[in-house]
Amino acid sequence: MYVKEIRRMVDNLRRELGIEEKVSVRIKPMKRKKATISLIRKEIRINKNILPDISERELMEIVVHELLHLKYGIFHTREFLEEMEVILNKKK
Ligand SMILES: [Zn+2]
Repeated sequence: MYVKEIRRMVDNLRRELGIEEKVSVRIKPMKRKKATISLIRKEIRINKNILPDISERELMEIVVHELLHLKYGIFHTREFLEEMEVILNKKK
């Protein structure tokens, strides 16, 4: 996927999750994590190294996970996990 498409995906998903503030996207090589999010900068960082090996579906799941951190904070709370499940089921 091109960076432009990834940005569009992030934008669509954050709207769907009811997140009003814009979220920026950076693609950069990282050592271990697939992706991270800065809650202060509202910025998703996606590991460039994983992009050749993952499907669009997997990327979508990664992005949803990171966006939910914006909504629920740093912990994987019950609400976080429930919304994750709901949105992923909707997209099956
Ligand atoms: Zn997490």
